[in-house]
Amino acid sequence: MLSIKNLHATIGDKEILKGINLEVKAGEIHAIMGPNGAGKSTLASIIAGNDTYEVTDGEIYLDNEDISELSPEERAHKGVFLSFQYPVEIPGVSVTNFMRTAINETRKANKLEEMPANEMLKFIREKSELLEIDRKFLSRSLNEGFSGGEKKRNEIFQMAMLEPKLAILDETDSGLDIDALRIVANGVNKLKSNKNAIVVITHYQRLLDYIVPDFVHVLYNGKIVKSGGKELAHELEEKGYDWIKLEQEA
Ligand code: ADP
Ligand code: MG
Ligand code: MG
Repeated sequence: MLSIKNLHATIGDKEILKGINLEVKAGEIHAIMGPNGAGKSTLASIIAGNDTYEVTDGEIYLDNEDISELSPEERAHKGVFLSFQYPVEIPGVSVTNFMRTAINETRKANKLEEMPANEMLKFIREKSELLEIDRKFLSRSLNEGFSGGEKKRNEIFQMAMLEPKLAILDETDSGLDIDALRIVANGVNKLKSNKNAIVVITHYQRLLDYIVPDFVHVLYNGKIVKSGGKELAHELEEKGYDWIKLEQEA
């Protein structure tokens, strides 16, 4: 599903990603962990097509298609979803209406007809029930006055509605409370299927108590320096990141 080959990226004169290789197959959940400043969010942004960074080498493939040169919109239309892509507050536009527009734009880009209104309603109802999202929440203005937990709920709802092939969740917010963690984890676990792949980026092992990854990678200083199963997350929780640094500097 996702294949990253020898990805190098810079911002200004600073090289941030120094040769990332990553293979993620459909049906898999991968966790990317690593100390602050390792390049985790940079990697997520670059996969989604953020052009703040300059990709100096390497390629990114989605379903064997090189998407390295595509715009963020084109990538989104092909099924790449990055959490917090739409953090903007839009007074007067409800969560539901925003999603309706986003879905129809995606369909249009893929040369599909608009989803008929009754089908859309059914789809919204199904997904909101699956994720235990309150009706009242769906009619609120997008992100306006949302709490941390509500932002997460909205993010997961967007993911459920857009049914991305590849979802990348960058849990940059270390202040996530336990409720927000549960919202994310429940959503991810319910939306996981053999047709999609999920990459969870997290500094803390805690989230991985709820989302069990198939693979864990440690990003350090712009490189994936270690990969393993879920036990690697526990090892990191126990030992911190210092031993990784020591190993790399040795
Ligand atoms: P992580 O998410 O692992 O904490 P980031 O990807 O946010 O790491 O950052 C990696 C490195 O790139 C850091 O040294 C950070 O200061 C630098 N960096 C990231 N974004 C920018 C930017 N927009 N301008 C300058 N430096 C940046
Ligand atoms: Mg980050
Ligand atoms: Mg190359």
